Amino acid sequence: MPKMELTCPTCKQKHFLSVTDSQAAGKDPIYLLCPNLDRRYRLMGFYIDTIRGFYSTPALKEQADSNTEHLKAMLGHENFEQKFERWLKIEYPPLGLIDEYPEKITQIINTYSSGYFYPAVTSTCCLAERILNRLILRTRDHFRSDPHYKKVYRKESFDDWGKMITVINDWRLVPKRAISIMKELMLIRHQSIHYNETFNFEAIASDAINKLIAAITDIFGVINRKDIYLVFDVPGEIWVRHEAQKHPFVKEFVLPHCYYAHAVQDIDFEKKKITERLGEIGPLTDEEFVQLRKTAK
Ligand SMILES: [Zn+2]
Repeated sequence: MPKMELTCPTCKQKHFLSVTDSQAAGKDPIYLLCPNLDRRYRLMGFYIDTIRGFYSTPALKEQADSNTEHLKAMLGHENFEQKFERWLKIEYPPLGLIDEYPEKITQIINTYSSGYFYPAVTSTCCLAERILNRLILRTRDHFRSDPHYKKVYRKESFDDWGKMITVINDWRLVPKRAISIMKELMLIRHQSIHYNETFNFEAIASDAINKLIAAITDIFGVINRKDIYLVFDVPGEIWVRHEAQKHPFVKEFVLPHCYYAHAVQDIDFEKKKITERLGEIGPLTDEEFVQLRKTAK
């Protein structure tokens, strides 16, 4: 591959880069990403649900009433008071979840609120099992030299919760509290999925759902994951900490929801185009990056 020397439009220094023959001949454009700039991942795709907060804030009574009407239309007028009571029993995190979970949790909450306890409990356990599977399947290639790898590299799915939880714990994929909640959900799963003539699905439902949501929040939440994110250190923005970028969980589940750029930049969301400008040359600490970003806005 031919090498070319270019004067960088961003930092004005000269960079060498490999180009294709047609780029060297001037037939194809050359895109130069200045190698002198420190870049970070900024989280863009996350889900916010502040609806439950309407009910505890007197000033938001109008919004609360309008949501109640919406629930009535969605869940049905019959026995609505009980449906609403159940809806209120669910503890939902107000700020920030990534990935596929908000939509799936909402389906489970609506099923439970409507009074369908058997599908609510079994789908809670299924979603928890899906999470354990995804954590292992998506990250296992980062652990090729780990003793657990030979046990998990070939399978397309797993149903042994005990083994999955051990692997996830040993690979430090999720916070400790999420591990203990998953162990509690494992007991509920065994009781509800394995045949058990007198199992009371109604009695366990809200507890099971709240445990699932707590585990999902511990893992896929944003505001609580200060180990991964710089949450609003730059007002209104969430950036991934430099150290966290290397973590297999972050690589697989967080970075796909981010864009990657220098602190000083213009972004055109419609055209999905980022134009970087020179802020500072060379690597930055998280604090320096935040300061630079603040002054650049
Ligand atoms: Zn440059």
